[in-house]
Parts: sequence; structure tokens; C-alpha cells
Amino acid sequence: MDHDDLLIMIPGPTGLPPEVRAALARPAIGHRGSAFAGIIRDCTEGLKHTFQTGNDLLILTCSGTGGLEAAVVNFLSPGDPVLCVSVGHFGERLGTIAGIFGADVTWLRFEWGQAADVTAVEKALAGGAHKAVLFTQNETSTGVTNPVAELAAATRNAGALTIVDAISGMGGTEVRTDDWGLDVVVAGSQKAFMLPPGLAFVSISPQAWQAAEAATMPRCYFDLAKAKDALEKGQTPYTPNTSLFFALQESLRLLRAEGRERVWQRHAEAAAAVREGVLKLGLKLFADPQYASNVVTSFLPPEGVDPKQVTDAMLKQHHILITGGQGKLRGKILRIGHMGTVNLEQVTRTLAALERTLSGLA
Ligand SMILES: *Cc1c(COP(=O)(O)O)cnc(C)c1O
Repeated sequence: MDHDDLLIMIPGPTGLPPEVRAALARPAIGHRGSAFAGIIRDCTEGLKHTFQTGNDLLILTCSGTGGLEAAVVNFLSPGDPVLCVSVGHFGERLGTIAGIFGADVTWLRFEWGQAADVTAVEKALAGGAHKAVLFTQNETSTGVTNPVAELAAATRNAGALTIVDAISGMGGTEVRTDDWGLDVVVAGSQKAFMLPPGLAFVSISPQAWQAAEAATMPRCYFDLAKAKDALEKGQTPYTPNTSLFFALQESLRLLRAEGRERVWQRHAEAAAAVREGVLKLGLKLFADPQYASNVVTSFLPPEGVDPKQVTDAMLKQHHILITGGQGKLRGKILRIGHMGTVNLEQVTRTLAALERTLSGLA
């Protein structure tokens, strides 16, 4: 199969615009010179626009999970009580990271496919003992977007820090970092930013920096205070993936040119078209419709059909990559990603191929 034909409709990595691919092919530069300093400063400003924040924002060379590790180890100490509000596979990952580094994690879990219930979160936080609340903005494994503003308000009222995994939603959906009072927010390159995997973006509020001063979890590569110091010189503490920075500058330029709100609108329209198409095929959507994600749609295969048969046939016969479930949803659901470069033509092609695939399996 020629990779150029592949239509990639998974929740990351996503397709790459030609401008991004061209940027990736640029000649190398040094990472301690003025050219790189100009690029990292430009990228940082562009990301702050996307994050809607005046907070510090740091760019790390690692996958999204590295960003989550950074969001934990810089702000907490072993033994700190934290509440992990989990609605799926990535919520589990965030709380697990905190536990590995010694946080005293209380889990508040909701049924997969549902959003977090704010009242239950408020109840769990009563007493004000928690240092931080951890949750996903958009739970990629189930196709659910959490009520982030409300969760953040409950967290703030309890005097705790919000640590948010916004890896799959940032860029494609509205995340108001400052208006919603989000202390630490993590995003990743291979989702709505239309880039290959390999960069994570972390924003840090002044309150989070204050917590960082007292935080004693071990950290080395992901020491954000070091990254902040290096950024003042237009650098990173360790060698960054310079090619991905070229590409990031390009993707931020594209996103800026299209306009933040128009990008969200394009994602919302793609999501609505996918949901409508899936229902038209007689299939059932998995996520609570009230909280259905605009970047990924989850749905059930027809009775008796293994999701893997569907994804295999879609790839082989139509050169379209969709995916199944993760964690305990493996073998149970299908997911179509619609983020980054997504447009209605791609959605229509995907739904038409899905229809033919399902009738072929029936
Ligand atoms: C993709 C994703 C991640 C990060 O995964 P990496 O493979 O480490 O880049 C984390 N959380 C969510 C919600 C995601 O969608």
C-alpha cells in the first residue's frame, strides 16, 4: 500500500498538511543559535493563543504521556492526596502516573462513555484535603468531552490545583485555560495540531509554579523549572526535535490563518456528520450524546461483528484507518477520529467505506 493514499481517521496521529510535510524536510539547524531561538519563541506565542493563556507555556520533546508525567512530578510531593477523576483509559493513565511517583491517589471513576459528574466531584472534594485534581478534558478512549469549566470551578473552590490532560482536545475544541482557571494543561503534537508525534505542550499557572517550589517528586528530563530558564534564552535544556519545531511553527501559522473559532467549527461539523452517518447506518453511538466529543466518535459495531474485522477491512479495501477500543473497551467499540486536517469530504469517504464494509461483513 502506498502511504500517500492512506486516509488516517484515528484520534492521533493525524494527517499532515503539505506545508507541515515540507517543513519537516527542511535542512538542519543548531539548537543553541538565534534561528532556533526565534522559532521556539514564535511557537510558544502561537501555542499560548491556542491554549487561550497568558501563563507560561513550555514545549517538550516527548509524546503526550511525557507531558502528563511532567504535569505530575513538578507540582506534587510523595504522599500528597490527589483526586483522579477518571472517565476512561487516559484518566486511568494520569492517576496511575501520579501513583507511580508516590501521590496518595483517591479515584473517582465514572462509567466509560459518561462524563464526570460535577456534584460527585464536589462531594469528593469536601473537606479541602486534596492538593490537586487530575482529569482528562477530552477522553479519547470513549469519545467524551468532560465539563471542564465546572470541574475546574469545583477544584478551585476546594483549594486544589487542576491538572488537565487536554492532549486530544486542544486545538480542535475550545479550552479556555485562563478563563476556566486551569493550572496545568497538557497537549500533544499528533492530535489537532496536525503534526507527527513527538512534542508535548504544557501550560503552568502562577499557583502551579508556587506549588512547584515545594514539590519534591523526583524529576530530571521533565524538570519544568529548567525548561523555563532555558526558554528565557530561546533554548531547551536538552536537544529538542528541531524538525518538529519547524513543523509546529507551520501548523500554528495554518491554524492562526484559518482562525481559532473556525477550526473548532470545522471539528464540530465533522463530528456532527460522523455521528449522523453512524446512526444512519443503524449503529449505536457509545458516548453520552450530551458530552459527545468533537474530535473522536465512538460507536458499537453491529451485533456479532468483531471491531477488528471492520478496521481490517476498512484498511485493506478502502485504505482508511479507523480504530477499535482501548483498555476494557478493546473488542467492544469502534472509533473514528476527526481532528487536525479533518474535513467533510474525508468524513463522507469514511462513512461510505464503512457502509460498504459492513454490508460486506453482513
Ligand atoms: C493521545 C493521548 C495521550 C497521549 O498519548 P501519547 O501516546 O503519549 O502521545 C494522552 N491522553 C489523551 C487523552 C490522548 O488522547
